[in-house]
Amino acid sequence: MVYKRSSQLFAEAEQVIPGGVNSPVRAFKAVGGTPIFVKSAKGAYLYDEDGNRLIDYINSWGPMILGHAYEPVVQAVIEKAKLGTSFGMPTELETQIAALAVSMVPNIDKIRFVNSGTEACMSAVRLARGFAKKDKIIKFAGCYHGHSDSFLIQAGSGAITFGSPNSPGVTAGTAKDTLLATYNDLENVATLIEANRNEIAAIIVEPVAGNMGCIPPNKGFLEGLRQMCTDNGILLIFDEVMTGFRLAAGGVQELLQVDADIVCFGKVIGGGLPVGAFAARAEIMDYLAPLGPVYQAGTLSGNPLAMAAGLAMLQALDADRAIFTRLAAKTAYLAAGINAVLKANQVAFTINTIGSMISVHFDATPVVDFKTAAKGDNETFKKFFHGLLQEGIYIAPSAYETWFITDALTYEDLDFTIQAVDKISKTF
Ligand SMILES: *Cc1c(COP(=O)(O)O)cnc(C)c1O
Repeated sequence: MVYKRSSQLFAEAEQVIPGGVNSPVRAFKAVGGTPIFVKSAKGAYLYDEDGNRLIDYINSWGPMILGHAYEPVVQAVIEKAKLGTSFGMPTELETQIAALAVSMVPNIDKIRFVNSGTEACMSAVRLARGFAKKDKIIKFAGCYHGHSDSFLIQAGSGAITFGSPNSPGVTAGTAKDTLLATYNDLENVATLIEANRNEIAAIIVEPVAGNMGCIPPNKGFLEGLRQMCTDNGILLIFDEVMTGFRLAAGGVQELLQVDADIVCFGKVIGGGLPVGAFAARAEIMDYLAPLGPVYQAGTLSGNPLAMAAGLAMLQALDADRAIFTRLAAKTAYLAAGINAVLKANQVAFTINTIGSMISVHFDATPVVDFKTAAKGDNETFKKFFHGLLQEGIYIAPSAYETWFITDALTYEDLDFTIQAVDKISKTF
């Protein structure tokens, strides 16, 4: 495969866009080389500017669960676009998608739409703080909740009392209100709660972590968080931006039967357009403006194009719940195949999966939190990534990312991928 035109386009982009990209992980910094420029995509495949066809395991980082350019979504967007793309006034469409989302997800009465997962998480935390009338939040190392200030936090010297910024521009004042915990470690959370009695408004968690590879919660972890929150007047926020409408119609709340107080959405809920949302029971949601005192707004929030795409996507998932079983079966097949060839080629690895999420880590230690995820051998990952690319297979250009299985992938695609992994891992 030749990636000549992509390299030229990247050089041109670098002149006018910082790093040539509008979101950093696209830049291939972790794997070397230059990013692939996409021309179009259909079903399971990307078509790049050099004329290569790639099997896509990123799928826009999650949204395209039914494959690219899914016809009902495309049609819905085209039809709506002809009628005007944004009004800044209410439309019936917003109520339709809200009602459908509320019917699919357990434990929520009302939902508000925003334009990204970042906005959803940022707004959910503000709502939680306003509602609970407390300032601090607990987040988990390695969980990603978008790029708003409160979440760009690393363990500080006094990690038990406060975090420190992990990006310039985040103030120490903001960082001190975010406490950092270890994923899958309830004792650690209990210690933080104990040390910050009556100060914690919310715990925000990816109920299945997907931004340090895929890390399912240990048995009892989410249940334990639920109990601690209930016992201490803390709101439990499930960030289901990645897992919502992906692991089940009702997300992780349905899959693992644990109730959250506030749920954040993004990715799949927008069908590939910029959409986020957060939802909760009425008592909490009515605390938002214009009913309540917590302010939150958006000029393009709920715009007809985004809502039409999201509605068409949710309708497709709602009508065909078997999709989640189909996706899990494909994931299990791929995992078993990769497992067999890596074993045969004597590679040290761990594969994590749940539903339609899978990640391959190049270390034999079980990957259960950020520390164990960070043990993966990045040199091996680089060879793996570029080897797959040469075979026409696109995974995320970072060892910390999950692969997303879509309904458009065929078993032939999966077999081809397993054979490619076999070939590449012989050269490690
Ligand atoms: C992608 C993601 C976000 C951020 O969403 P954006 O739309 O990129 O702002 C937040 N939380 C989780 C769990 C995500 O996977």
